[in-house]
Amino acid sequence: MMNLPELSTLPSTDAMLQQESVRLLIEQFGRSVVLQGIHLILDKIRTEVKDGCPPPGLEIICAQVGQQIHEWFQPSLLPVINATGIILHTNLGRAPLSRETLAAMQTAAGAYSNLEYDLKSGKRGSRLVHAEALLQKLTGAESALVVNNNAAAVLLTLSALAHNKPVVIANSQLVEIGGGFRVPDVMRQSGAKLIPIGTTNRIHISDYEQAVRDHPAMILTAHHSNFKIIGFTTEPELKQIALLAHQAGIPLVHDLGSGAMLDTSVFGLGHEPTVQETLSAGADVVCFSGDKLMGGPQAGIILGRADLLAKIKRHPLARAVRADKLCLAGVSATLVHYLKGEALEKIPIWQMISMDVDFIHRRAERWQAGLGMGEIIPGFSMVGGGSLPEESQPTWLLSLKVGKVNQFLSKLRAMPQPLIARILDDHIVLDPRTVFPEQDQIVVSLLNQALQS
Ligand SMILES: *Cc1c(COP(=O)(O)O)cnc(C)c1O
Repeated sequence: MMNLPELSTLPSTDAMLQQESVRLLIEQFGRSVVLQGIHLILDKIRTEVKDGCPPPGLEIICAQVGQQIHEWFQPSLLPVINATGIILHTNLGRAPLSRETLAAMQTAAGAYSNLEYDLKSGKRGSRLVHAEALLQKLTGAESALVVNNNAAAVLLTLSALAHNKPVVIANSQLVEIGGGFRVPDVMRQSGAKLIPIGTTNRIHISDYEQAVRDHPAMILTAHHSNFKIIGFTTEPELKQIALLAHQAGIPLVHDLGSGAMLDTSVFGLGHEPTVQETLSAGADVVCFSGDKLMGGPQAGIILGRADLLAKIKRHPLARAVRADKLCLAGVSATLVHYLKGEALEKIPIWQMISMDVDFIHRRAERWQAGLGMGEIIPGFSMVGGGSLPEESQPTWLLSLKVGKVNQFLSKLRAMPQPLIARILDDHIVLDPRTVFPEQDQIVVSLLNQALQS
């Protein structure tokens, strides 16, 4: 091995541990981590010296150790400011939660609870009861179950009700929702035997009539969450399919996807079918997400007939996909907003959906004034999250002309509080709708920093 004289000028670990800056690191991060940092940096420097680099001084080496350790402790999951105008942005974590929901989750997280403990009898209770009563009251469903997410809800429902049995589904509904959720794959995983009927663009009630003659275990329907079939298309109403299923003595299971509990069409959007409508149309089991239009934490919610829900709850997979106490606390607190009729005021995504456009305009003006530049232009916000594709709401955007748009966007993403904007016609545009009003000042200051650097 080469033995360069320069290598012997590098400080020893002991010498480094004597340095004031390193002692401070030990206080902050603990000795073991600091030792790991020192070894890593000294190894790196030895290699560099062997490659002909001059050995750095002691202070520089200590600074490198500090930088490395800070990097290790930097959380990778960071809050960001969403100025994209996409309300349920799946990549940005879907629905932000109401204050009351956060408080309920925090309480559940930091204390023991009666999660599976019956306070009346002092005996073992069931975690299933916590959100169930609220869901029953709100939707009229006989029974309810909360699991990890809607993919799990659909998988569990099919596993419990149709393992090794034929399930009828329209070809037009064998869809991919995104993030790897493909209805046919989930069906196969559950052990259900797929019986696709109809064509890609058209399915008639007569197709269902014919299919039920072969005695399938159920009919599955799935909401076209994230796409629209347009042109020469037809699909029977859910009500007709439900009637047919019931005449044949089999259940209709509907994967609703978004789980809206309020009517989106009031806010200039298309109508997203609601949970309540789906149940009244006659679906026997309905599955949907907690963190889409319900505006709560990540969860999958299964509602419906008590006898079917009892089978679903008993299935071994139910244990594998069960909701934790934070989720149950969060789902319950979010549902309370609907029961009290205060969802529009309290649930952030509904505040955004129902935001007054004049208010959006005033905020865009304030941003503009804070920057001393930019133009306010009309634009569109989207619901996103696999809901209401093609549908948008009018909004006002702050549009900025900057030199290199992509470079500017990446500068905004690199800020201590990353700001996510988008490009429109070679301009940077920012939509106040998805930015919390209390973040307005930060947005202005981040933009100013990025413009000046
Ligand atoms: C979003 C969606 C899913 C998946 O839900 P997750 O909660 O993301 O697991 C399944 N089915 C439909 C129709 C959806 O829209």
